[in-house]
This record gives sequence, C-alpha cells and structure tokens, in this order.
Amino acid sequence: MASSPSPCSPLPRSSHRRQRSMNVFRNLWAAVMGKSNPADPSPATVLIVGAGSTGLALAQGLRKSGIPCVVVEKYDCLDARSRDWNMGLHWGVSSLKSLVPDHLWDRIQSVQVDPHAPTADHDSLNFYNAQSGDMMASIPVQYFYRLRRRKLRGLLAEGLDIRYGKELRLIEYSKDGKFATTWFEDGTSITSHLVVGTDGAHSTLRQTLLGPGNGSTQRLPYCATFVQARYSADRARYLRKVHPLYLAGINPAGYFSFFGMHDIQDPNDPSTWTFFFYVSWHSPLEEQERTANWTNAQRLQQVKELSQTFTDPWKSAFDWLPDDHQVWYMGLSDFDPGAKDHHWDNHGGRVTMAGDAAHAMTYQRGQGLNHSITDAAKLAEAVKQFASGKAAQADAISSYEEEMIARAGGEVRTSTVNTAMLHNWEKVQQSPVMQSGMTPQQQQQPQPQQAIRAQ
Ligand SMILES: Cc1cc2nc3c(=O)[nH]c(=O)nc-3n(C[C@H](O)[C@H](O)[C@H](O)COP(=O)(O)OP(=O)(O)OC[C@H]3O[C@@H](n4cnc5c(N)ncnc54)[C@H](O)[C@@H]3O)c2cc1C
Repeated sequence: MASSPSPCSPLPRSSHRRQRSMNVFRNLWAAVMGKSNPADPSPATVLIVGAGSTGLALAQGLRKSGIPCVVVEKYDCLDARSRDWNMGLHWGVSSLKSLVPDHLWDRIQSVQVDPHAPTADHDSLNFYNAQSGDMMASIPVQYFYRLRRRKLRGLLAEGLDIRYGKELRLIEYSKDGKFATTWFEDGTSITSHLVVGTDGAHSTLRQTLLGPGNGSTQRLPYCATFVQARYSADRARYLRKVHPLYLAGINPAGYFSFFGMHDIQDPNDPSTWTFFFYVSWHSPLEEQERTANWTNAQRLQQVKELSQTFTDPWKSAFDWLPDDHQVWYMGLSDFDPGAKDHHWDNHGGRVTMAGDAAHAMTYQRGQGLNHSITDAAKLAEAVKQFASGKAAQADAISSYEEEMIARAGGEVRTSTVNTAMLHNWEKVQQSPVMQSGMTPQQQQQPQPQQAIRAQ
C-alpha cells in the first residue's frame, strides 16, 4: 500500500507484437497529428489525457465506433503505483457494457474482488452500528459489481494505443479554431481535434482551464486511513463471516467504515484472501496540516486506537495487524463543476473533461465511478455525433458538458453532504445514503454547503 512508484513490469510479449504493429499506425498517425504537420487530421481524432478507468473506458467506446484516439498517461505503466482499491459499479453497468466490446465484457468477472462468485442479480449493502453490531439499514442493490481498480484498468487497456510517460503540461489552441496541441513534460506534443482530460481528481488539465486556484479540489474536514491485509486462515474465515463481500459500519462516536474483500486468490485457502477496509472521521484542516508529516506507524497507531470503539469485524481486523503494517492515509476533497467560478471555456468544443477530473466527489455513497463511466458513454456519443457530421463539434461537446455538470455536479454536492452526515450520529438517518441508497440523484439544485465546508 505504499504510495511511492514501484518498478513497472515489462509489457507481455503479445503487447510487444501489438506494439510493433501499432508503430506502423503511429507513423501514419504522426504524419497527420504531428505539430509540424497538422495539415489534415481526421475530424474525429481524440487525445485522452489519463489512463484511469474513465479515459480507458472512453477510448474503448471510441475504438468500438472506429474513431481513432490516443491515450496518454503520466506514469511509465498502468501499475506504477502500488496503491489499489475496489469500487462498486451498479447503475453505471449499462454504460460500461455499451463502451466495451463483448469479448472484454465477458471477462468482467475476472476483475471482481471475488472472481469465483458470480454477481448476484439482487444483493444488499448492509449498514451496521459499528459499536453494537446491530443492523441499521439494508440497501438493496441490483448487479452490484465490486471491481478492483488495477484489474479493471488492465482489462480496459487491452487493444488501445496508450503512450506512457507523457505528463500533461499545457494546451495550445490553433487560431483557426480547429486544433488543440497538447504539450507534455518530456517536451513532445500531440495535436488533435479534441482533448479530453481524464486525469483524475487532481487534474492538471482542469488547472490549465481554470487556473491553479479555481481548478483545484476543495479540501474537506474529513480524512480516512485505508488498509489492505491478509490473515491466517482461521482469522480470515472469521472476518468474512458477516458478509462474504462488503459491509458498512457507522460508529456513533463519529466514524464511518467500509469493510470488505479485495482479492480472493484461492476460495479454498482463506490465507490467500486480501481484505480492504478503511475508517474515516471528521478532521479539521488544521489537524490535517499538523499531522501531515506523520509516519506510517503513527497513522496505523491512530486507527488502531479508533478501532477500540468498534465491534468486530473491525476491531479484530485492526488488532491483528502488525505495528509496521503499511496503511494509506488521505484527506477528502471535492470539485463541483456546477459551482460559481468553475465554468470553463471549452474552446469551441476542442477540450473537455470527464470522470474525477470533471467532478471529484467523496466516496461514502459509492458514486464516482458510476458517473465517470456514464460520462465516458455520453462523451463517446457526442464525439460520434460530430464525427459523423450530425452535429457541430462545439454544440456536441457543450451539450455533453451541460448534462454531465448537472448530473455529476449534483452528486458532488450530495456526496459531500452525505459524508458530513455519516460522521454525525445525530444526522446519520437523514443522510442521502440512508434516505435513497445508492441511486443517482440527478439534476439537483445547488444545496447550502455551510455545514460541510472546511472549518
Ligand atoms: C477508496 C475509494 C473507494 C471508492 N469507491 C467507489 C465506489 O464504490 N463506487 C464508485 O462509483 N466510485 C468509487 N470511488 C471513486 C472512483 O474510484 C473514481 O471515481 C474513479 O476511479 C475515477 O476514475 P478516473 O479515471 O476519472 O480517475 P483516476 O483513476 O484517478 O485516473 C486518472 C489517470 O490520469 C493520470 N494522470 C494524472 N495526471 C496526469 C497528467 N498530468 N498527465 C497524464 N496523465 C495523468 C493518472 O496517473 C491516472 O492514471 C472510490 C474511490 C476511492 C478512493
């Protein structure tokens, strides 16, 4: 769980072969895309900045429609960072299905936290009082896919033209209104008709559009510490008893926790099962500043102390961790694309954003990936519209942005309110997740945010 880059694994042989054949295409591509010769690029050429789940899903959707696109990624490979987590995909499933070819969708089971257990048609995410163990709510979910981020990206990367080691620096727009030239830290550039920023919550592309102030996420007075761990067979079996895949805990002391599986290597050998869990809590920004340099041992000690107020499985899961176990700490933040001062110029439809780059949100309501994949599906449709001449590029991209900002901006606000309420025992029952589960709350009006803003 260390956050530092780890060595990238070499590409598999099949990828080298694919790479060679891609080079032929690339030379042609360079001829039409290179800055020195932007003479006549196909009107559907798209550059996607960031090889996360959003960028890769979008690239799959464009590829499926025969629209050439290149993905650039700042790291040297997909697995450059050892940090990983898993995400619930529920109402976004149909969008993902629409983007990827059937042979990839057929393998979705292989990227689930438990690849051996088919996703149930109907399941429930249970919320427990994490002190008493009493069930507080059972939220029904249909086809609740629990996907490992790293494995999902590996699957979605198949067959795509991804250029690694390309970190976005700035974008220039041609005077004729047709092209955008994206420059990278290595001094190279790519010219395209459309640039899509899918470079995550701390998006550089967003900052090129809005400046470093307005283009940054807003820090929230909440933080979390995450753990991935394996246990002896007996302990693993015990920890998995409450639910085979996932559960949520709300601690009246003001803590929230998710607890579940991350990887089931061998279903018959519990010592190969990896658990993933976190505790989040209210933490004013001054406290986040003051503890910014804490060591791993201090972070772990802190959550071990918090876990003393929890019942099992949390308490034992923390008690059984050795004192040098690697953990991962993160302050929560958001970016609301519907907020005043967050309106960006899309330069006649030549630049836009999708996924966390467009709308970073807190994760306790499990919506970020669902919106991100929905963005990808809707943006792929918009590109098809202008590529086929059915709409002007500027109109197609502006329509995409209008829908995305209303839909996902509303959820940014709802998710932040939800995070605040889940950490306040008096308000837990009124929280969006308790009131409406994980269903999308579309097109909401901006809500008063005083209760949840940085203090
Ligand atoms: C603990 C946790 C649990 C979550 N649970 C859920 C859940 O249950 N359900 C749900 O729907 N969502 C969940 N989410 C949210 C979900 O993970 C995100 O919404 C989703 O992963 C966003 O994907 P993305 O591709 O937009 O961004 P990212 O995955 O962050 O990808 C961004 C990519 O861009 C690259 N990049 C960054 N900067 C540059 C640059 N300058 N140049 C080039 N490349 C760059 C990065 O290296 C990265 O590869 C959770 C999030 C967390 C942290």
